[in-house]
Amino acid sequence: MNRDSKLASPYLKSFPDEKGYFGTFGGSFVPEAVAIAMQEINDAYNLIAQNGDFIAELRKIRKHFQGRPTPVFFAHNLSKECGGAGIYLKREDLNHTGAHKLNHCMGEALLAKYMGKTKLIAETGAGQHGVALATAAAYFGLECEIYMGEVDIAKEKPNVLRMQILGARVVPVNIGAKTLKEAVDKAFEAYLKDTKNSMYAIGSVVGPHPFPKMVRDFQAIVGIEAREQFVEMTGELPDVVCACVGGGSNAMGIFSAFIEDCVELVAVEPLGKGSALGHHAASLNFGQEGIMHGFNSIMLKDESGEPAAVHSIASGLDYPSVGPEHAYLHSIGRTKIAAIDDKEAIAAFFALSRKEGIIPALESSHALAYALKIAPELKGKKILLNLSGRGDKDIDFVSEHYGYGN
Ligand SMILES: *Cc1c(COP(=O)(O)O)cnc(C)c1O
Repeated sequence: MNRDSKLASPYLKSFPDEKGYFGTFGGSFVPEAVAIAMQEINDAYNLIAQNGDFIAELRKIRKHFQGRPTPVFFAHNLSKECGGAGIYLKREDLNHTGAHKLNHCMGEALLAKYMGKTKLIAETGAGQHGVALATAAAYFGLECEIYMGEVDIAKEKPNVLRMQILGARVVPVNIGAKTLKEAVDKAFEAYLKDTKNSMYAIGSVVGPHPFPKMVRDFQAIVGIEAREQFVEMTGELPDVVCACVGGGSNAMGIFSAFIEDCVELVAVEPLGKGSALGHHAASLNFGQEGIMHGFNSIMLKDESGEPAAVHSIASGLDYPSVGPEHAYLHSIGRTKIAAIDDKEAIAAFFALSRKEGIIPALESSHALAYALKIAPELKGKKILLNLSGRGDKDIDFVSEHYGYGN
């Protein structure tokens, strides 16, 4: 949290500014009622995040409930096969529930508890955020209401069941396209009816201020651990750090510890089926500046200027915008961007499964595919990537469409 020495670094202390801006990106573009609720969360966060009890409780949760620290692992077989750079994985797949999302969900839920809230509200697309939040709600004894489009409910049955088993109420949304966008609208509507008792929990470094900052701060533990572990293992810093970017929370988590170091940071976006609009979700690669979901960033727009339809084989990456901090860091040249298509991600998925005995999430497979692509040219260098989650959730889809990797 804010007391950790890394978060006291000059960059992290000054970005975002008090209005939530990273340069021109970020901010809060929401109706008055939402603005009041966001201000309340912001004020509470600034106060509570400095509180010794809050910090101690969060540390205890990370250690005893989530199983942190997660290890950094040297992928010896894959590195050898590439014949170039050494490839190291930060194992967020070993975080409780199998992905990094629980890091910010536990933080948000703990904040809700300290604020005296009794209910957590959110939307979910593929259900990953819903499951992580339902887990946090169960831990803290909070009510949990997850809005989900009917199309997504039909597609993501196991995650719907998980949320229900964890005690969350999954509310089907049957308006419009019945997917994520409509679920966001309905979840906000429900939240605005009861901002006094409920907390809206955003699932990435997106949305109005203070969420991009708060979620980054909660995810920063990934980078703090990884940096220390990497230095302990190798005696030096990595040359390249990469991560997949949907909204950008796992990437900001690991990047945040290296921003002031001489380390190349690469945001890897999903190129899906190709570069035509609608075939990918590579917002930083192909997008333009614009406002959606309450913040100014780089987004993919359709002809009418609305958020474009997007595609990625990894449902956690198909978002038509990106966290404002990523837009900023790329605009000043601090981060590099790359794009990996569905096929390359699938190849990486099988490579890690077969060569190291780790089945990665399809999202994380994008970061891995990038590492595998550049490694042969980087002899003697070291690449650290954030393995954001495990791939158990993806095995039915992958085996149905791609067999078993033979
Ligand atoms: C949701 C998810 C992502 C994408 O979200 P970010 O906010 O970009 O990190 C990546 N990996 C996994 C495993 C996910 O569940």
